[in-house]
Amino acid sequence: MVVWRLLLAPFLLLSISWGQATKQIELWDPADLERGVGEDNLRFSFFKHNGDESGNTLLAIGGVHGDEPGSYFAAGILATHYRVTRGNLWVVPNLNHESMIRNQRGTYGDMNRKFDYVAPDDPDYELVKKIKSIILEPEVDLVLNMHDGHGFYRERWENYIFNPRAWGQSYVIDQKTLDGVKFGNMDEIGRKVSEALNDYLAEDHHYFSVKNTHTRDLDEQMQQSLTWFAVTNLKPAFGIETSKNIDALAIKVAYHLRSVEAFMDIMDIEYERDFDLSFDSVQKVIEEYGTVNINDHIKLDLVDLRRVLRFVPMARSGNTMTFDNPLGAAKWMGDRYNIYIGNKHISTLYPQIFDLDCDLKAVRIVADGRAHTVQMGETLDVKEEFLVVPTPGIRVNSIGFVTPDRTSQDGVVIRRSDIMPRFSQDARERTFRVEFYQQEAFCGMVNIRFP
Ligand SMILES: [Zn+2]
Repeated sequence: MVVWRLLLAPFLLLSISWGQATKQIELWDPADLERGVGEDNLRFSFFKHNGDESGNTLLAIGGVHGDEPGSYFAAGILATHYRVTRGNLWVVPNLNHESMIRNQRGTYGDMNRKFDYVAPDDPDYELVKKIKSIILEPEVDLVLNMHDGHGFYRERWENYIFNPRAWGQSYVIDQKTLDGVKFGNMDEIGRKVSEALNDYLAEDHHYFSVKNTHTRDLDEQMQQSLTWFAVTNLKPAFGIETSKNIDALAIKVAYHLRSVEAFMDIMDIEYERDFDLSFDSVQKVIEEYGTVNINDHIKLDLVDLRRVLRFVPMARSGNTMTFDNPLGAAKWMGDRYNIYIGNKHISTLYPQIFDLDCDLKAVRIVADGRAHTVQMGETLDVKEEFLVVPTPGIRVNSIGFVTPDRTSQDGVVIRRSDIMPRFSQDARERTFRVEFYQQEAFCGMVNIRFP
């Protein structure tokens, strides 16, 4: 039996594409959106990494506070760069997404004080209701609420930064144990996780310890929190707090990731990730912003996108923007869309309004002497030159390429030096837009990328 598994393992790794066992769960009823319920408050997403082998289930929640990027950049990476082979890791990377893009603790007040009572007319009402129902799902064995907190928690007062009232670099529990419940030995688990982390510190004073808020007897504030809601419903729960006083985002994110892994180790959940946990690698993974897909006509690479993009062809209303990074969001500002990854404002897109009634799906482009079929939104790598093969009835506009004598720019060889660099999509001036129109309708855009 053992031999079989060893023989099969490499084959399985090759045949299963990364993240196949991960499902993003549809949480929100489209009818709610049509009715405009809470439309000014962005919704969170929910990922399930379910292992082939059954086991315990850990629920990790990022972004309850919008100004704590270590929390949600880590949770975003848990959602997209991990694969679970035994047990389950469930992730909500962006619980309070509206506050994240505004980099505020809570745009509508402190969400972590709404778990005892939240008024039905509170903009956070639907979000709190939904996350409570996920916490209460019977499979969930343990809940993590991820934060970046003030200072460095110490049992004895040292100064304003290092003291018993600080939150940073601690695992917060509401009480020592939860009797008769699996993983109810919370104090002991917190200490074990601290030990695992304290072998992995960028600086000695970053060490972690357990902070017990003794919520039932001492802390009325914490009685309104997410973890207390979990504990009173017999779900062991921890706050993970890295320190806001650590400047490097990669270090906070790495501490969060290593902490969640230590919890998974204790819970016998088996996982893989597609990067190593050095601070440099974590920094690179944070910078994988991914793309935004606009109406299936346009796809923009968010890494190195220009800070401002003008004349982006879109519909007057009902534009859909899909991100492959779960921290991605677009916010309509009255005349433009602001594009965010977490609390980072990536770009501003100024739309130019078009009818989108065109069914062109792909075009032919000859690049460096080779013909390609390119779907709308795709990127074509070109070394020297390209030529768009004419499609009857379709007008081509290569942005930044000026030809006073033509209305359509198909059937003509275009070299990089023919295009004005300031019309590029990206700050490095490598990627250019080629747009397709059918009479007055916009059909889509192809990206031409030079070395
Ligand atoms: Zn917090």
